[in-house]
Amino acid sequence: MENRQSILREIPKIDELLLDEQLIFFMESTPRAVIVNAAREITERVRTEILVGNRKEAPDRQEMVSDIRALVEGKKKHSLRHLVNASGVILHTNLGRANLCQEAVKGVLEVADSYSNLEYDIAKGARGSRHDHVGEIISRITGAEAAMVVNNNAAATMLCLSAMACGKEVIVSRGELVEIGGSFRIPDIMEQSGAHLKEVGTTNKTKLSDYRNAFALELTGALMKVHTSNYRIVGFTQEASLTELAGLAAQLSLPLIYDMGSGLMVDLSRYGVDEPSVGAALRDGADVVLFSGDKLLGGPQAGILIGKKEYIDRMKRHPLARAFRVDKMTLAALEATFFEYLDTEGAKKNIPVLSMITVPEAELKARAGRLKEKILEKAPAFTVETSECTDQIGGGSAPTTRLSGQAVLVSGGGFSAERLERLLRKAEIPVIARVAHDKVLLSVRTIREHELDLVARAFACAASQAETAKG
Ligand SMILES: *Cc1c(COP(=O)(O)O)cnc(C)c1O
Repeated sequence: MENRQSILREIPKIDELLLDEQLIFFMESTPRAVIVNAAREITERVRTEILVGNRKEAPDRQEMVSDIRALVEGKKKHSLRHLVNASGVILHTNLGRANLCQEAVKGVLEVADSYSNLEYDIAKGARGSRHDHVGEIISRITGAEAAMVVNNNAAATMLCLSAMACGKEVIVSRGELVEIGGSFRIPDIMEQSGAHLKEVGTTNKTKLSDYRNAFALELTGALMKVHTSNYRIVGFTQEASLTELAGLAAQLSLPLIYDMGSGLMVDLSRYGVDEPSVGAALRDGADVVLFSGDKLLGGPQAGILIGKKEYIDRMKRHPLARAFRVDKMTLAALEATFFEYLDTEGAKKNIPVLSMITVPEAELKARAGRLKEKILEKAPAFTVETSECTDQIGGGSAPTTRLSGQAVLVSGGGFSAERLERLLRKAEIPVIARVAHDKVLLSVRTIREHELDLVARAFACAASQAETAKG
């Protein structure tokens, strides 16, 4: 605490900052009061960061002046914007999960700036349904009888439970009462949907007989299996497989719902990704399967429901379907993404999430080398090396999968790694990197080729701050 107090005392005073040449110059174009307010806001922000322990050193005058200018100018910028993900986490939920494939981007642009047949049947010249556009291609790719799309998988779960089991009990294993993050918890969603959770088994062991014993005629509405997508239970464990549950559901004339989280469509076991695939889930006998559009499927944010036509039709007619419906841009992106899956090998190249998982190590190594050269060229003051690193799938998918990646490590230039990481975030196009062993670590798996120059420029910009501070 004492240490934090002494760091606080080192923060440049607002009066001193206002005498800075750059800010005096800035006042010619911006009212003094606006700059004073920005200076107060930045000072407050820095104090809080120091007090909560997120910042280990006081900023110098130059950093404060740049932040004040950036704050004033930033108010003119859009809030949601492009940044470079150098974290090596492919499906980073905070950074927007999946990048769309080129065809999906084209699809979005096409429907965004023109009218479309969103709910119009061109052949009949009459009203159509927005569900029709993707239903057929999804069925073709997954082998499902029918499909529909809503806003995200959380909405899909809610709609499915509400349409199939409102007022009834849904039997779920205690080992699968997942929290996905934010406020998505299976028990809470269940309650909101009007279905009643009937928990069975224990955290580590649930047997098929547990489901059978919990069945009550008139009361039970469905069996549900939830893929524990963001954690694994290991050791003394047992669970009922989808196939076993399908057999039981058929005996009891109940639907079997499977929330599988990530919509993996191709076999990635060769790359260490041990997630169930959509095709296998249907073959194993699930009646309705739910998954996200923007996890391993690699498309836009969406919740996809596939399975028996009678159930999907019931969901399409449910009032929540309207509340959860997706817009034309999502449908365009999703249709184009599914089209890529007509050619599995092509999909692995064209869908960014898949290409980032399957990229050969040699290619990552070459990219790291190119990034190193570009940084040294634009910002020679830094020490730059390449090294191995560990990457992740992220987005609550394949939690145990570790991908061996390639990184560029940057240090020196008169900065601590902590300060350098912060300056990269403040670049014109922010760069999100990691700090490891007092160096800034940039994993190249998630950096796209055309972004290498942006990263180098962010370092040049950081270096120039060090120089202005000295001068
Ligand atoms: C991710 C996930 C969800 C939520 O999906 P969103 O598309 O993020 O709403 C639900 N269930 C499981 C098992 C998941 O992995």
